[in-house]
Amino acid sequence: MLNIILFGPPGSGKGTQSEGLIKKYALQHLSTGDIFRSEIANQTALGLEAKKFMDKGLLVPDEVVIGMIGSKIDACVEQEVKGFIFDGFPRTIPQAEALDKLMAFKNIPIKIVLSLEVSEEELVKRLLGRGATSGRADDQNEEIIRQRVVEYRSKTEPVAGFYDKQHKLTRVKGEGSVDEIFASLCHAIDSL
Ligand code: AMP
Repeated sequence: MLNIILFGPPGSGKGTQSEGLIKKYALQHLSTGDIFRSEIANQTALGLEAKKFMDKGLLVPDEVVIGMIGSKIDACVEQEVKGFIFDGFPRTIPQAEALDKLMAFKNIPIKIVLSLEVSEEELVKRLLGRGATSGRADDQNEEIIRQRVVEYRSKTEPVAGFYDKQHKLTRVKGEGSVDEIFASLCHAIDSL
């Protein structure tokens, strides 16, 4: 199974690049942010819980995220997918450890972690631009955006080191045209 983690700060292009990768490699997309937004739209208990944190630009607690992703993976494995692309997950070391355990148990390990590297000013610019059209509340307020970047730097960035130690991390320049970045990602995957 080709299991990929697409890693990077908010606004680094994970969602955009996932779309192309899913098509090219026939992967199952698992975006925890998208799942939470859909739960919020359906006003489920999980959605209402997640919303409290998302509205403030904070990470949703690990136990909530890990429990949710576990059941999504189980449902997909039953459908015999070719591989997963994790987008926006794992975002903390405990999430990465839990994912490793889960995938080891199923004997479907993560093959590669692709980290999109983008400067902070470019991130804020992109997110504010996205906020004007995406309808995402957390993209419309500069303070919330900066808080999300703070969460990323303190809790999520160490996850890169976690996978680097396992020799699974590949850093890819996340600035340039969508096609250029896509080509770099495909090159990294194809050289596996
Ligand atoms: P995203 O769409 O990936 O930018 O996620 C939007 C928001 O959902 C984040 O700012 C977090 O509040 C929450 N979220 C998404 N994925 C996770 C995760 N893996 N761990 C904790 N919170 C998450």
